[in-house]
Amino acid sequence: MRLPFVPTDGLCRKCGRDAVGLDGEYLCDDCRQHRPHFDRAASVFRFEGEARELVNAFKFREKLYLRDDLVDFLEAAVRARFRVDEIACVMPIPSTLTHRLLRGYNQCAILAQALAKRLGKPYRPLLRRVGHPEKQGGLDEAARRENVIDTFAVPRCVLARGVTKPHSSFSTSPVLVLDDIMTTGSTLSEAARTLKAAGVETVWTVSLARSIRL
Ligand SMILES: [Zn+2]
Repeated sequence: MRLPFVPTDGLCRKCGRDAVGLDGEYLCDDCRQHRPHFDRAASVFRFEGEARELVNAFKFREKLYLRDDLVDFLEAAVRARFRVDEIACVMPIPSTLTHRLLRGYNQCAILAQALAKRLGKPYRPLLRRVGHPEKQGGLDEAARRENVIDTFAVPRCVLARGVTKPHSSFSTSPVLVLDDIMTTGSTLSEAARTLKAAGVETVWTVSLARSIRL
């Protein structure tokens, strides 16, 4: 099996989009124009070929035995792109109610829990879904950004305890948000906007697969 891994060099310093033939980091046109609310993003694969099969098998067909391999890949991507010792906690993008009802599990939560354990970080699912956006598939980029606004919230009980840690010195530590597939980045950006409104200073994200449209 040949998997289309995203390279670790020549990436947009914000969204992690890769530019062929570039060394170091750059800021892509998309991030210049739309300024996503997350600070930095990492992805494991491009969402194509065998990687698409793998991610869809885990997401839709309950191939949960793939978890450990997928977490290996996620851990490597996180270690390549972030300073792990700085991460305060790990959390998933909450799944839609429809997905939970149909599948009975949240694939992002399963991965985020395992990844947190692997990195030796607390698992803190701080985000809740409050909106019911249309499915993002089939929408153009502007419609996707519009569609996810006010989708998430941080519950009051979490806010009262402090978002990252009860000690104020931890409030500046980045939190790591995991999603399975990143397309335009609008879902992760909205999650980051919600977390920042709740007092988190820095949001890093990691996704299994990046559907990159250049
Ligand atoms: Zn970018």
